[in-house]
Amino acid sequence: MKEVLVVGGAGYIGSHMVKMLSKSGFDVTVFDNLSTGYKSLVKYGKLVVGDLADRPLLEKLFSEHNFQSVIDFAAFSLVGESVSEPAKYYRNNVANTLNLLDVMVQYKVMHLVFSSTAATYGNPVYTPIDEQHQQVPINPYGASKLMVERLLQDYAKAYGLNSVALRYFNACGADPELELGEMHDPETHLIPLVLQAASGRLSSICIFGQDYPTQDGTCIRDYIHVQDLCSAHQLAMAAMLSSTLTGAECFNLGNGAGFTVQQVINVSKDIVGKDGYTINVQQADRREGDPAELVANSRKIEEILHWKPLYSDIETIIQHAWEWEKRLVALH
Ligand code: UDP
Repeated sequence: MKEVLVVGGAGYIGSHMVKMLSKSGFDVTVFDNLSTGYKSLVKYGKLVVGDLADRPLLEKLFSEHNFQSVIDFAAFSLVGESVSEPAKYYRNNVANTLNLLDVMVQYKVMHLVFSSTAATYGNPVYTPIDEQHQQVPINPYGASKLMVERLLQDYAKAYGLNSVALRYFNACGADPELELGEMHDPETHLIPLVLQAASGRLSSICIFGQDYPTQDGTCIRDYIHVQDLCSAHQLAMAAMLSSTLTGAECFNLGNGAGFTVQQVINVSKDIVGKDGYTINVQQADRREGDPAELVANSRKIEEILHWKPLYSDIETIIQHAWEWEKRLVALH
């Protein structure tokens, strides 16, 4: 059985990845410091609690296993926090990741799928954004991810480390079987917040800005289901294992369809309305650093890895997230 290490596998996207890999027959080890992840989300695979800063622990882990590949989700990802605490972001997202890369090279584990982000692009110069778009991040979070992308290019050339950096747009949705879902503390993302406003965990949802140059004045984003994100990781890993992909590659991951904040709220209202819930909506000022429109061109991964999103419609995404929200509320 092929062994995979999933770093950050106790988090939102990582836990879905671990389930998918385990169901596909991989022997999965999760390495997570549980700073933002949850033990309860590791329902598949073995959990090793540890920090990427702890190089001796990483070396012990690699010496005891026969990993063929690594998928790395471990990072801090709050844009606002990255502006006020850049040291935290550069230390964890860059310096600690460097430890992981070095131990991989040391133990000759030469395949890495790395979670990158649309935040590496900065303000869009054109849309939809393809991989050729300039990368000029406007916050330390995006900068920290871009730094690792650069490291990966150099590690490919010098040490032969193969990698695929996947630049996510807006990850959302939940495991269709409802074993897993989004659970951030604090929660900052639109869809879970809208649904918390429906379930009563929040009193209302604030729309950040209604004066953007879009059809209804609210920001446009590209929402991609977590299952589709995970299937892309698995395809990327398989392509490296079969040597179809070598060197340092990068792909966008989005649906290519943008939805405004108002559209997300409207669809959510319809979905929760069927269960008798309502959503109280308020207007607020623009949130600093939000571009009007972020939409991905994901043709490259569709063409090269034959990736196809299965849950691309916004109704399914929000329905799955709503089922998960109801489950969370029932558990509280
Ligand atoms: N947003 C909002 N109210 C909220 C949270 C988010 O209006 O309480 C908007 C935000 O301004 C952005 C979109 O929803 O235009 C998606 O934001 P999110 O934080 O989910 O993801 P981001 O695009 O920032 O990665």
